[in-house]
Amino acid sequence: MYDVAILGAGPAGLTAAIYASRARLKTILIERNYPGGQVAMCDKVENYPGHIENTSGFDLSMSMKEQAERFGTEMKSTEIASLELDSKEKALVASDGERIEAKTIILSLGANPRKLGVPGEIEFIGRGVSYCAVCDAAFYKDKKLVVVGGGDTAVEDSNFLTRYASSVTIVHRRDKFRAQRILQERTIQNPSITVQWNSVVKSIGGKDSVDHVILENVQTKQQINLPIDGVFVLVGLEPNTKMIAGRVHLDPAGYIITDENMRTNIPGVFAAGDARQKLLRQIVTACADGAIAATAAEKYIDGDEWPTTKS
Ligand code: NAP
Repeated sequence: MYDVAILGAGPAGLTAAIYASRARLKTILIERNYPGGQVAMCDKVENYPGHIENTSGFDLSMSMKEQAERFGTEMKSTEIASLELDSKEKALVASDGERIEAKTIILSLGANPRKLGVPGEIEFIGRGVSYCAVCDAAFYKDKKLVVVGGGDTAVEDSNFLTRYASSVTIVHRRDKFRAQRILQERTIQNPSITVQWNSVVKSIGGKDSVDHVILENVQTKQQINLPIDGVFVLVGLEPNTKMIAGRVHLDPAGYIITDENMRTNIPGVFAAGDARQKLLRQIVTACADGAIAATAAEKYIDGDEWPTTKS
C-alpha cells in the first residue's frame, strides 16, 4: 500500500513526487510514456524561474525525475487501464492486471495535442503532418511548412521551425494571435515567417507525403492551394481525462475541477497540472499544483484540518 500514487510524470506529477517523497510518504509515480510529458518536447524553456540560460525541456524533466528518485520516489512505466477511487483505499489497475494500491491518488494526467479533423490529417500523420515541432523539425531542412494555430505553441514553434525550414506560413483562424506578446514580436520580426490571417486549413493533400494544403479565408470563403512539404498542427490541447469522466467532476471542456488545495470531488483524490481547470498552463503553475497536491495528500492521510475553500 502506497501513501501516494501519482498518475502522470509531467512537471506536475514530478513535483508532486518530489514533495510527497521528501515528506517521507511512500510514493509511486506512474507514466506510460517518458518523464516530462509535453515539456520534454520543448526545445528551450526560458520562463521557468531561475533558468536564465537555455535549458531544454528534456533536461529540466530529467533533473526533476532525478530529484524525485533521490527522495525515494518509485518510478513505474505502465499503462493504467482503470481506477478504483470510491472506497477509502484506492487502486490503479494496469493493463497487464497489476493492482497498485494507495491511500491517495494525484491525477497529473496532462493533455494531448488537439486534432484539426480535416481530410488528409490522420492519413498523413508521420508523412508530413506533425504535432510536435521539436520532435520533427529536423526532417524539414530547406522545406516549406505550414503551422496551424495562434497560441504560444504555434507562434513559438514557428520561430524554432525556421532554423530548419526555408519558410513557415502560420495559418490562423482570427486576425490576431492569442500568444504572449514577446513571442508575437519575435515572429513578426522573423523574415522567414508569413501569416495567413482569418484562414483555416480545409484539407491536406499529397501522394506519398503531404505536398499541399487547401486554405479558406473564413470571411471571403476564397480558397487557395498552397504547395508545401509539411503541416504542424499546433492548435492547443485536450485534457487527458476520458478515463475519469463521470466520476471525477470535469468542466464542459473536460478539465478536472478542484478547489485551490487541488482536491477533487472524491476524498483522497487530487489533481494537478494541465488537466486541471485553471487560467494559466505553464511549467511553473504545474509545479505549484504538484507541490500543493502532495501537501494536501499528506494532510489528508494524517487527518489534519485546514481552511476549507471552494473552487
Ligand atoms: P492554446 O493557447 O489553446 O492556443 C490554441 C490556438 O489554436 C489558438 O490560437 C486557437 O485559436 C487555435 N485553434 C484551436 N482550435 C483550432 C481549430 N480547430 N482550428 C484552427 N485553429 C484552432 O494552445 P497552445 O498554444 O498549445 O498552448 C497550450 C498551453 O501551453 C497554453 O496555456 C500556453 O500558454 C502554454 N504554452 C506556453 C508556452 C510558453 O510560455 N513559452 C509555450 C507553449 C505553450 P483562437 O485563438 O481563435 O482560439
